[in-house]
Amino acid sequence: MLQQLTEKNRLTKQHTQEYRQSFALNRNAAGFNKEMKEFVYTLVCDRADGPNVYDIDGNEYVDLTMGFGSILFGHNYMPVRKAIEEQLTKNWSVGPISPLAGFLSKEISKATGVERVAFFNSGTEAVMVALRIAKAITKKKYFVFFKGAYHGTFDSLLSLKNDPVTNLAKEIVPGVTQSMLNESYLLEYGSEESLYFIKKHKDEIAAVLTEPVQSRNPTFQPREYLHELRKITAENNIALIFDEVITGFRICIGGCQKYFDVTADIVTYGKVIGGGLPIGIVAGKAKFLDATDGGFWQYGDDSIPPVKSTFVAGTFCHHPLAMAASLKTLEILNQLNGKLLKDLNETTGAFCARLNSFFSTNGYQLSISHFASLFRFYTPGKLNLLYYQLLLNGVYVWEGRNCFLSPAHTPDVIASLEEKIKLSCLQLEERGILKKKIT
Ligand code: PMP
Repeated sequence: MLQQLTEKNRLTKQHTQEYRQSFALNRNAAGFNKEMKEFVYTLVCDRADGPNVYDIDGNEYVDLTMGFGSILFGHNYMPVRKAIEEQLTKNWSVGPISPLAGFLSKEISKATGVERVAFFNSGTEAVMVALRIAKAITKKKYFVFFKGAYHGTFDSLLSLKNDPVTNLAKEIVPGVTQSMLNESYLLEYGSEESLYFIKKHKDEIAAVLTEPVQSRNPTFQPREYLHELRKITAENNIALIFDEVITGFRICIGGCQKYFDVTADIVTYGKVIGGGLPIGIVAGKAKFLDATDGGFWQYGDDSIPPVKSTFVAGTFCHHPLAMAASLKTLEILNQLNGKLLKDLNETTGAFCARLNSFFSTNGYQLSISHFASLFRFYTPGKLNLLYYQLLLNGVYVWEGRNCFLSPAHTPDVIASLEEKIKLSCLQLEERGILKKKIT
């Protein structure tokens, strides 16, 4: 397999090596270990269209990475591209605010039910600001996040382990020092003990931050638990923050708030709603969003900002190109009552069901699980070779292994994708890599 892949990705590997000295790219060493060294590179692609990406060796892949979930409609989707091009020719200045930003805030508010909306550049930034405003309004210091979640790269969330006695997140990444984690409690997601802990520490906890359905574990969809979290946080002046950077505008337009019928205090969005351009959104109740700008006041009377604000800023926040892409994305999602998302989620469900049936018919120790149009393969241990076999057969899955379908994955594309996945399984079985369940 190694030799075949090295031949197939010859130019990608050559390119990676050529620029390694100058181009410090973490992804080019992701999951490095000595035995797998020759497999460690990120595909270099210079073209993407619909459900496909094309690498610099000229290979075509069915893309399951889809911009880490930021490309909902498929690559190079014309209506969004045209909206960007139109804006590009009109205005893409930074400094004065584009009129699109205010308009988009209202549209998002209408679509999701949030009261106020603030724009930033990435999911990471949105989560960081969400925590800041939660602390500013509750006037407390600590927050809770959960094992298994991914919330981006804000230092105070970069840990996977906690101290078993205090539950404080522990330093595990060089450079993210313990002092950055000393107000971060890291708890088990879904456990009663976590609820008990939150209640016990209610006077110091400003926020509970959760990915309602964790992208790394889409099987776990804890409706009741989210309701319990809502109840406990509401009773104790704790902000409930839904990180919907992946689930927002995907499970349905109203995201997990709508799907699980839980209204969070603050919600973060990103990815999909940017239409492929960089965006991060902090939205939710005015009570919390008011910490960004002091809240509502008007000209012509003696009103003043009613709330003492914290500090937020960013050179590229509400960039006109991102605003234009986002508006067009929302317009498309809103068509036919959100039918596009409904159909896409159903298609993903049916795709996963067919593959699971294939896996179990063949007795493979492999399954696939989804939430909306996000899915992941589950294997005992890390069956990383699956992803290299898929690459060899023309399917691209990035190192984080979250996979996404889009409407550009038409029935024909999906049929051929399924064949490629099945073929990969058979090839791995032949080599003794994919094991059968012992019955
Ligand atoms: N929150 C969640 C749930 C995410 O999945 C991600 C990114 N995958 C982020 C936050 C961070 O977003 P960004 O990469 O845009 O900073």
